[in-house]
Amino acid sequence: MTARVPAKLNLQLAVGPPRADGYHGLVTVFHAVSLFDEVTVEPGARDTVRVTGEGADRVPEDGDNLALRAVAALRAALPRRAARPGGVQVTIAKRIPVAAGLAGGSADAAAALVACNELWASGFSQQRLAEVAATVGSDVAFALVGGTAVGRGRGEQLTPALVPSTQYYWVLAFADGQLATPAVYTALDRLRASGPGKTGPDDPDLDAALMSALRSGDAARVGGRLSNDLQPAALSLFPALRKTLAAGLELGALGALVAGSGPTCAFLAANAERALELAVSLSGAGVCRSVARVAGPVPGATVVTAG
Ligand code: ATP
Repeated sequence: MTARVPAKLNLQLAVGPPRADGYHGLVTVFHAVSLFDEVTVEPGARDTVRVTGEGADRVPEDGDNLALRAVAALRAALPRRAARPGGVQVTIAKRIPVAAGLAGGSADAAAALVACNELWASGFSQQRLAEVAATVGSDVAFALVGGTAVGRGRGEQLTPALVPSTQYYWVLAFADGQLATPAVYTALDRLRASGPGKTGPDDPDLDAALMSALRSGDAARVGGRLSNDLQPAALSLFPALRKTLAAGLELGALGALVAGSGPTCAFLAANAERALELAVSLSGAGVCRSVARVAGPVPGATVVTAG
């Protein structure tokens, strides 16, 4: 059983101060884009995982792998009277770069959930799967649904964005290096603590102007409202990204931002043709490791082959 699952961008990422549990309260607008990992699950003697493709050597092949954690969480959530499913061999074909701000690990967890739900004929609804997803990681629930959605809490409380299904064309610039998400949040807290008496809003707000731009389907308006509170922190840890962002804007992008905790940069183009031009120019400018053209929104984790 194979499931395909997209990477995500955050069109808005508003971060509150750290909460008592150590997490930061968020308001975010998730947007799933057409860069996919594929996760295959097959019955096995015990739970194992093998990772191939982009950045595979940096992904744990043990119980720390988020896809394996998702398998264990789904198994534990099965009703007691259900037959205990045996082990599962998980194979992950990665195209989403690792530790790049695109939530590839969460995506793999979501794919493992939908694939095992089929393999075991568990019959969990999307809603029930989302509850299990939230126990595995903050971005896993969104990777199940995909599209464009508003996330609150740690990002796991989702509401549909209720926007038209306009396609947006993006260029992603992959960096030569990674950023660890916790380090970026720590840098944000440090920057805020050393700023002029500001610790950030208690309750971050959804950007009404971004939502209105998304409702209009006008890419130029959307490009003008992209925002990411983590961006200054990511730039402080990875200063070369400033050059990447500036180059993309100079080359005609409608908007640019660091993706999630970075270091990937995302650029919005007016249409597919402009995205192609931008991708070619950006890769020629020598400001990133490689580029990819993607479109969004796309659906979340989907079973593609019953094996
Ligand atoms: P986050 O999802 O926290 O925003 P990210 O998108 O920047 O992070 P991921 O690719 O999700 O980055 O990887 C974050 C870390 O999770 C990696 O350092 C990796 O060791 C670990 N990890 C565990 N399972 C996976 C997986 N299946 N794929 C990728 N990374 C994984």
